[in-house]
Amino acid sequence: MPNRCKAIIFDLDNTLIDFMKMKQLACRAAVDAMIRAGLKSDRKKALSLIFNLYDRYGYEYKEIFQALLREMTGSVDYGIVGAGIAAYRKTRESGLLVPYPKVRETLARLRKRGIRLAVVTDAPKIEAWIRLAAMGIQNEFDVVITYEDSKVKKPSTKPFLMALKKMKVRPEEAMVVGDSVTKDIEPGNKIGAVTVLAKYGEKKKNRKKFGNEKSARPSFQIKRFSDILKLV
Ligand SMILES: [Mg+2]
Repeated sequence: MPNRCKAIIFDLDNTLIDFMKMKQLACRAAVDAMIRAGLKSDRKKALSLIFNLYDRYGYEYKEIFQALLREMTGSVDYGIVGAGIAAYRKTRESGLLVPYPKVRETLARLRKRGIRLAVVTDAPKIEAWIRLAAMGIQNEFDVVITYEDSKVKKPSTKPFLMALKKMKVRPEEAMVVGDSVTKDIEPGNKIGAVTVLAKYGEKKKNRKKFGNEKSARPSFQIKRFSDILKLV
């Protein structure tokens, strides 16, 4: 560890929250509903196709079930797509949000070591707090900076600097942890913090080769959230 770590700034989505888990559960419910509505496939085959399509079109792609039907049958049956979307939304809106393994324990142990903890996220304020509360970790942080607080999105360094100012910690004494090279690692490097890439949260499509770009290279990479304990 190149400096003494006094504070850690975490990204929220795909760093603390396991968004993929929610996505998997929602897609499983959707596939089951589409099969009940007449889709001729087994669950496993349809699910693996959906995730291939997500890799191709991105995880925010809104017409995934239409694409699935086109791929499987050559046309779109809207009765089946409607059933899939309804089941998907029902699961998503049930507020089912799961932190990655050992998030709660690790945060508690970091706090016990006297390290200040922050969240910096582009999510709207109410969304961020709903997600933190749904995971039961809303009281673990000294500072939470959302889009409304900074009025600017990452990769701006402003939200990170705001969090540090509130915690009265200098950038060199801080660590920035996130799953995105462009939104977390680059601004973290820019302000002079130690940066940690959360490999477990990286989407295949976003994976970026660091190459020779020093600005994009994280100080450390972790495969599990709890590996942070080894770095402080
Ligand atoms: Mg993220």
